[in-house]
Amino acid sequence: MTPSEFRKYAHDLVDWLAWYLENIESFPVKSRVRPGEVYAGLPEQPPMKAEDFDTIFRDFNEIIMPGMTHWQSPNFFAYFPANTSPPSILAEMITATLGAQCMIWETSPAAAELEERVVNWLRDQMGLPAFFEGVIQDTASTSVLASIITARERITRFDSNEEGLSGCPKLRVYGSTQTHSSVEKGVKIAGLGRKNFIRVRTRNDYSLDPRALEKAINDDLAAGCTPCCVVATIGTTGTTAIDPVREIGEICRRYGVWLHVDGALGGTALLLPEFGHLLQGFEFVDSFVFNPHKWMFTNFDCSVYWVRDAAHLIKTFEILPEYLKTRTRGSVNDYRDWGIPLGRRFRALKLWMVIRSFGIEGLRNRIRDHIGYARKLAVMIEDEPDFELVVRPVLNTVCFRYSPPGIDVKTLNAINESLNHRLNDSGKIYLTHTSLEGRYTLRMVVSQTNVTEEHVMAAWDLIKSEARAAAK
Ligand code: PLP
Repeated sequence: MTPSEFRKYAHDLVDWLAWYLENIESFPVKSRVRPGEVYAGLPEQPPMKAEDFDTIFRDFNEIIMPGMTHWQSPNFFAYFPANTSPPSILAEMITATLGAQCMIWETSPAAAELEERVVNWLRDQMGLPAFFEGVIQDTASTSVLASIITARERITRFDSNEEGLSGCPKLRVYGSTQTHSSVEKGVKIAGLGRKNFIRVRTRNDYSLDPRALEKAINDDLAAGCTPCCVVATIGTTGTTAIDPVREIGEICRRYGVWLHVDGALGGTALLLPEFGHLLQGFEFVDSFVFNPHKWMFTNFDCSVYWVRDAAHLIKTFEILPEYLKTRTRGSVNDYRDWGIPLGRRFRALKLWMVIRSFGIEGLRNRIRDHIGYARKLAVMIEDEPDFELVVRPVLNTVCFRYSPPGIDVKTLNAINESLNHRLNDSGKIYLTHTSLEGRYTLRMVVSQTNVTEEHVMAAWDLIKSEARAAAK
């Protein structure tokens, strides 16, 4: 592609991007393609000769677009948000154009220093402890893996990096029955063995029960195991339950255990002063992550990860081949030592542009609105005798089910499952589910960047009418 062709196609593409965002509600939210359909639409062999961009883009529209689910639709209420916003998209265009490898300070000083500045901005605006030092990771999964490995190193006095784990007592990691699966994955990858991830029971509100945690730690100590790390969650994936960080933190402090707080989904709420109580106990926290790529209008990937003691993190991950030795080492942040991959995208740019374009107040207002819509929906669900609010929303996720009286649990589960499929097949909205004590429960996550109260109310009307029509 010549520079003048690039200019022309880039202009055309921006028009298409703006058109897409303006017309996003005309697409079925969940893709309707069948398994294998996209694959079959693609040629078996790649082109041997260059193709022009018009042809490629036509195929993109005809073959690829039908296979896309529209996560940016304000009618997307499934899983968790994966928000973007115009400033984030613009920043990604610049990042892709610069194509910089931001692995160490020397390879792009501005990337390292902007990263340090924006994570400090967020730390202060969220009211996190001043001792936290932050870095941007790709995902919360990578971040919790970094925590588990650093906790493993701390508890083995950095011996396991040198000698491996053989001969070590079993190192235990704790979460709750609602803790995200990335923790179990992290325990496996860190070499601790999946059986050493202990899921303790939750309280009635699905938050981790600290008494059960302390008992599990004591049982393990009595059995000769070594408690290594606890993962508490602010906003579990199923119901956005909030684990009691202060009580968990006191236990971790007593037993010398690393405390990681997973705020991937709900941590954004810490930007709101009215959620300041969620910070109770953060003085005990060793690491914390939240995902601007979920609920802060910054497109995937962008997880902000803070640690109490960056020296532990760096000692765990640092490796220094000859070609990466620099004169500035030690006086600047070389973020490749703060996590798993060497290569790093310039993620700070989109975070910076999002924060500046919305302003902290703009971010707060948008997040506050989402929480308000979720709460309003919950009240409306409670008002309908044939629906059940399964969990009162703390943040942005409303858990409910269609529950006309006199129907057994098994049948209700089947009714709600089929309701969920029908709603999603309609293309009008997209919801997903969780299972709570054997109850098939619909989840409506009210957090898409441009969702309004009208979208939420229209979705609720659709849910009610679909459920009742099928029951007739
Ligand atoms: N933790 C929680 C509570 C989540 O909801 C999720 C995503 O669903 C994750 C972790 C994993 O996030 P990521 O995709 O950034 O690894």
